Amino acid sequence: MKDTFKHKGLRQKLVEVVQSKGITDAKVLEAIGKVPRHLFMDSGFLDHAYQDKAFPIAAGQTISQPYTVAFQTELLQIKKDSKILEIGTGSGYQCAILCEMGAKVYSIERQLELFKLTSKFLPKIGYRPKKLIFGDGYKGLPDEAPFDGIIVTAGAPFVPKPLMSQLAIGGRLVIPVGDKVQIMTLFIRKGTKEFEKHEFGEFRFVPLLEDKN
Ligand code: SAH
Repeated sequence: MKDTFKHKGLRQKLVEVVQSKGITDAKVLEAIGKVPRHLFMDSGFLDHAYQDKAFPIAAGQTISQPYTVAFQTELLQIKKDSKILEIGTGSGYQCAILCEMGAKVYSIERQLELFKLTSKFLPKIGYRPKKLIFGDGYKGLPDEAPFDGIIVTAGAPFVPKPLMSQLAIGGRLVIPVGDKVQIMTLFIRKGTKEFEKHEFGEFRFVPLLEDKN
């Protein structure tokens, strides 16, 4: 679990790459510069940890590309103590970025193996989300709602209704919508029934899967 000067240097280069692609939020860039991404990856990929690319993790899933993580995080507009729900914990990298920015993070993962691995790993490197949940993200987390922000880190074939209804007024849902290719979509809740919708470019995610049960 080493984080060396070499890693820090590579991370600073990654920050510059992400910035050159259009990320401007200083807090997001700072978090990318702090979270040791190489520790979230299988050892075989260590050399690639600070390239701006997605990579395989356990259980056939992927750790998202840093630019994508930064883009989604920027859209959330996190403040200290914002209450954020993440769907798709995966490696925990996105979760760590949110924790680093001072958010209170709840994160749901449907694969037991990943849920167990990441639940053990995050506190080991000093990140303490409020709650990691093994379950189905399509349902959100009604017991802890409302959330200031909800971020979906898998490609959703449609926008799950529970996620919309679990947003606080003024809250933001960031969700890639589509089957093979996804359009990054931001919903801002303006009132009980009013949502503002913004669409951004195309992204590619592993699919948000429906519950097996
Ligand atoms: N945020 C992660 C990205 C992981 S990839 C990271 O930073 O590494 C997307 C994750 O979503 C996978 O781990 C996958 O198992 C999970 N997932 C897919 N469908 C889901 C669902 N219905 N509920 C919760 N998690 C889901």
